[in-house]
Amino acid sequence: MSTDNLNRSFRRPLLLGFLLLVIIVGFWHSSAELAQGVRILAYMELVLTVYYGLLLVVILRGRYSFGLALAVVLPFLSLMLMAMSHEETPAKVFIWIFTIPVLAYILLGKWAGFFVTLASSLIAFVAYSYRFSHDTQIYGFLYMSDSIICMSIIWGALHLYERNREKTAVMLHEMATSDELTGLYNRRMLHITFEHLAVAASRNNQVVGVVVIDLDHFKQVNDTWGHDAGDAVLAHAASVIKENLRKSDWGFRIGGEEFCLLITADSAQGVEIAVEELRLKISRSPCLYDDVSVSISITISAGISMCPDEGEELEILQKTADSRMYQAKEAGRNCVVSSDDGVSLQ
Ligand code: GH3
Ligand code: MG
Ligand code: MG
Repeated sequence: MSTDNLNRSFRRPLLLGFLLLVIIVGFWHSSAELAQGVRILAYMELVLTVYYGLLLVVILRGRYSFGLALAVVLPFLSLMLMAMSHEETPAKVFIWIFTIPVLAYILLGKWAGFFVTLASSLIAFVAYSYRFSHDTQIYGFLYMSDSIICMSIIWGALHLYERNREKTAVMLHEMATSDELTGLYNRRMLHITFEHLAVAASRNNQVVGVVVIDLDHFKQVNDTWGHDAGDAVLAHAASVIKENLRKSDWGFRIGGEEFCLLITADSAQGVEIAVEELRLKISRSPCLYDDVSVSISITISAGISMCPDEGEELEILQKTADSRMYQAKEAGRNCVVSSDDGVSLQ
C-alpha cells in the first residue's frame, strides 16, 4: 500500500462520518431556519443536504479521492461564507469559522488544508469587518483578539498534527515495507508486488521472472573483516542491484544474504539476459570498505523461474528459483541457472 493509499484510507471514514453528520444537522438546521422564517438559507441548506446524500452514496461505493473531498468541503464552506456575508444573519454565525481548519486539514490534507483555511478565513474576516465595523461592541481589537487567538491555536495545532501524521505514516510505511540495511523492499512486499506484476504481465502478454540471488562465500567476509564489513558488503550489493534494475523491476531482501528480484520482460530470454548482466556487474564492482581500506570482491549465484510458464503462484516459483540457485552453487558459484537441466549462463 502506497502512502497515498494510506492517506486515502485514513480520510475515507472521516469523509463518510462528516457527510453523515452534515446530512443529519442539515435537515435539523434547515427546518429550524424555516420555522424562524429564514427561508433562502433554509432552502440552500436543504439542497446541500440532498447533494451530500448523493455524495455519500458515491463515496460508500468507491474510494476516497481528493476531488470528492473538495466536492464535499467547498460547497460547505461556500454556504458558510455566504451565511456570514448575508446581512440578515446574526453575528453568532461567525462561530462556525472555527470548523474551517478542522474540516480543511482533516479531509484535504496539509497543503490544500492550509490554503483553503487561509482563503476562507480572509473572506470571513472581510465579511465581518464589512458588516460590523460600525458596531464598537463587537468590532474592536480586544473583542476580535480572542477569536484570532482561538483560530490560531486550532489552525496551528491542526497543521502540526497533519504534518506529523503524514510523516509518521510515511515512516511506518517504509518500516513495514523495506529492509533497513539495504533499502530494498522486504519479504512482505514481495507477495503483494508479485500479485500485481503477474496480473499486469498476463494482460500484456509478458513474463515475470522470479530470481533468487545468494551472495557467494559471504560468511568468509564476516569471518575475515567482521560483521560491519559484512553489512557494508550487503548494502553495496543491494545498491548495485538497485542501480541495475529497470523501472519495471523490483528488488527485495528476503534473508540474510539472499535477495529476490521480480523482472518483467517480453520473453524468458529477456529476464535471463538482465540477470546475467547483473551477475557480471556485481562481480566487477568490489565493495570498498573504508574502515580497513580493503576492496572486497563479491559474486552471486542466481536461480530463475518464469511466470506463467512454470507456475502462477509465488511459493512454487520461488521454490523452483531457489533450487536452481543451489544448482548454481554446485556448478561452482558466480553463475545463473534458469532451467532444471542445469543450463547455466556464465
Ligand atoms: P554460500 O556461497 O554457500 O552461500 O556460502 P555463504 O558463506 O554465503 O553462506 P552461509 O549460509 O554459510 O553464510 C551466510 C552468512 O550470512 C551467515 C550469517 O552470519 C551471515 N549473515 C546473515 N545476515 C547477515 C547480516 O545482516 N549481516 C551480516 N554481516 N551477516 C549476515
Ligand atoms: Mg551465501
Ligand atoms: Mg544464503
